[in-house]
Amino acid sequence: MRAYLDHAATTPLAPEALAAMRPWLEVEHGNPSSQHAAGRAARAAVEDAREQVAAALGVTPLEVLFTGGGTEADNTALKGIAWAARDAGRGAHLVTTAIEHHAVLDSARWLALRQAFDVTEVPVEPDGIVDPGRLLAAVRDDTVVVSVMAANNEIGTVQPLDVIGPALAQRGVVLHTDAVQAFGRVPLDLDGWGVGALSLSAHKFNGPKGVGALMLRRDLPCEGLLHGGGQERGLRSGTLNATGIVGCGAAAQLTAATAAVQVPRLRALRDRLLEGLLAVGDVAVNGSRRLRLPHNAHVAIHDCDADGLLLALDAAGVAVSTGSACQSGAAQPSHVMTAIGAPLEGVAHLRFTCGRTTTTAEVDHAVAACTDAIKRLRDGGSALPW
Ligand code: PLP
Repeated sequence: MRAYLDHAATTPLAPEALAAMRPWLEVEHGNPSSQHAAGRAARAAVEDAREQVAAALGVTPLEVLFTGGGTEADNTALKGIAWAARDAGRGAHLVTTAIEHHAVLDSARWLALRQAFDVTEVPVEPDGIVDPGRLLAAVRDDTVVVSVMAANNEIGTVQPLDVIGPALAQRGVVLHTDAVQAFGRVPLDLDGWGVGALSLSAHKFNGPKGVGALMLRRDLPCEGLLHGGGQERGLRSGTLNATGIVGCGAAAQLTAATAAVQVPRLRALRDRLLEGLLAVGDVAVNGSRRLRLPHNAHVAIHDCDADGLLLALDAAGVAVSTGSACQSGAAQPSHVMTAIGAPLEGVAHLRFTCGRTTTTAEVDHAVAACTDAIKRLRDGGSALPW
């Protein structure tokens, strides 16, 4: 039996998204910028998808730009908003957190290193949550954008944007949030939180890879990264990936329409998984138990070798992520593990993430394989049962 429990890394394409994409793979081929019938059909399909993404987020279609994924959406938001604000003389300071995805963190660091921006990386508490007071204290008069992820991709912690957002809005500071992991898993109140920009990636919600979206408020100045044909409000040149965009729209609609059923189902599966893992003993949860994504179980397994455990799980057909204190083969602890002060010596940190296709049988198989491997490794045995 196989158990794919790495839905934070990527998710399988939903049949509904595939069905929507199929004509755009097999028959339709127009360029959405062309004037003729084939082009107009492609344009209509792209605009339908834009409406689906906008409706799922509760924004207007004009506020949705399609990108080549979450990384591009994050880069555009950070660099584009920062450049436009500096050009307008509003300042050159950015605030972000220590546990952002590298698409945000490295964009901010590049702006600091190469573009003379000033960046403050606010630490998180040991439970993986940023203290709103600490974050807001880092905001200055020359702060042009604050980027705080809605939920973390490793430990699954959900940040208090309901507190941070309105406080930033009151001070007139733009909030960008990377919602790549959060979308469809926790409610996102873009208006209530005063979100100025938000990043999505289709392959994290059962859409295709290589397509994403940047929600950008219409009145928020932003420079584009890609120059050329002037597509997407002039902010993202390049022939639109109509096939991928159609899949992204269908997946966004499906995700929003089924969240009320899926979220409790995911939570139940995750809790079953966690219960099984904790029962092994000397296993702890990384990150807040309460403020975390419903599908994420990230655990510290003490007195256990991470590489050996991964090997054993892989041999048992269980796909998880090291998520990791010490990545396999590389002695570098992840920046998230470092930021929460996770113990590294002799501890295996594993991330299990459930999804739309996860079954109880998969969860039970993973728990059994994990229990067996941990016991064997702790007894000084080999990672593999043979
Ligand atoms: N942001 C977060 C939180 C992610 O988890 C990921 C993907 O792992 C990304 C951004 C990057 O998205 P993409 O793979 O679409 O470039």
